[in-house]
Amino acid sequence: MITRSSALLQRPAPETKPLTPETQPLPVQARWQTQLAGAIRDPHELCRRLGLDATWQGGAARGHALFEVRVPEAYLSRIRPGDPSDPLLRQVLPLIEEDRSVAGYVADPLAEAEHTPAKGLIHKYAGRVLLIASPACAVNCRYCFRRHFPYEENAPSRAQWEASLDYLREDATIREAILSGGDPLAANDRRLAWLVERLEAIPHLKRLRLHTRLPVVIPDRIDAALLDWLGATRLQKVMVLHINHAQEIEEAVVAACRRLREAGVTLLNQSVLLRGVNDDVDALAALSERLFEAGILPYYLHVLDPVSGAAHFDVADDEARALVAELREVLPGFLMPRLVREIPGEASKTPL
Ligand code: SF4
Repeated sequence: MITRSSALLQRPAPETKPLTPETQPLPVQARWQTQLAGAIRDPHELCRRLGLDATWQGGAARGHALFEVRVPEAYLSRIRPGDPSDPLLRQVLPLIEEDRSVAGYVADPLAEAEHTPAKGLIHKYAGRVLLIASPACAVNCRYCFRRHFPYEENAPSRAQWEASLDYLREDATIREAILSGGDPLAANDRRLAWLVERLEAIPHLKRLRLHTRLPVVIPDRIDAALLDWLGATRLQKVMVLHINHAQEIEEAVVAACRRLREAGVTLLNQSVLLRGVNDDVDALAALSERLFEAGILPYYLHVLDPVSGAAHFDVADDEARALVAELREVLPGFLMPRLVREIPGEASKTPL
């Protein structure tokens, strides 16, 4: 029998090639940041790279003028070229429909501006406070309810962070700090470690929750530097990922989720029910199954927030309820996301 060690002894020495600037590995910390910086931001390039014909270019340019295109290569690689109906493409490709004004669709559909007691801090629900940890995202999702959010007015300096931290320190009813954005993981690890260190020094805080799409969009974001500060905190850690379609969960995403779970992070997912992306029972069932394979529990299925520019993604409430009823027939209960709507002023999400 050949043991593992004897097999290693018999293996010829690998041929060593000198490292050139092209083959030299990037420092781990630079990998995700380089990918983030290199994301496609030109609608024409996006169409060209995906083999979309000229009929898509005008709408893409118009939508881009309203909310800029941003698609990193790691996400682009999961989109089928030449297929305008690809469910990942539909989430990132601007369309002329974004320029249509539709009654009831507004810039701030959740009235967040009314719940901002300090710069970069949103306090809507009892016991939980949301901090805008980064104004940037790795990908710009066309249906995003914060596509018009005034990030420039909500990008706190360290001194302003202290004001937000004072708010948390003074309210002993707050149990959970939620890092959001933009995408909180678009911030660098030094900044996040600094913030989490201060949060965990607040005795009444029990949980740290992160709402992020970065582990899905650029799985290399889940690197050793991130796991260092995240794994070390005394706070219980919950990460709510944002995945809308099973095709988004490639093997690199599964591996990133494994690293997070090993660091003690509970993984949940929230999706948005989107016309042309996941508005059929097969797509929703496949999403729940694939999430569970990756160690993520389906948590919420949101109906679309009525943000201006995104009306073409809407699925009517009756259709949403019918889809979920069908889904219940094919999935075990623990794979069923809760169908909800967020209504401004309500004390929690509203089940449909
Ligand atoms: S906040 Fe989330 S949904 Fe909105 S653009 Fe960023 S990643 Fe997409």
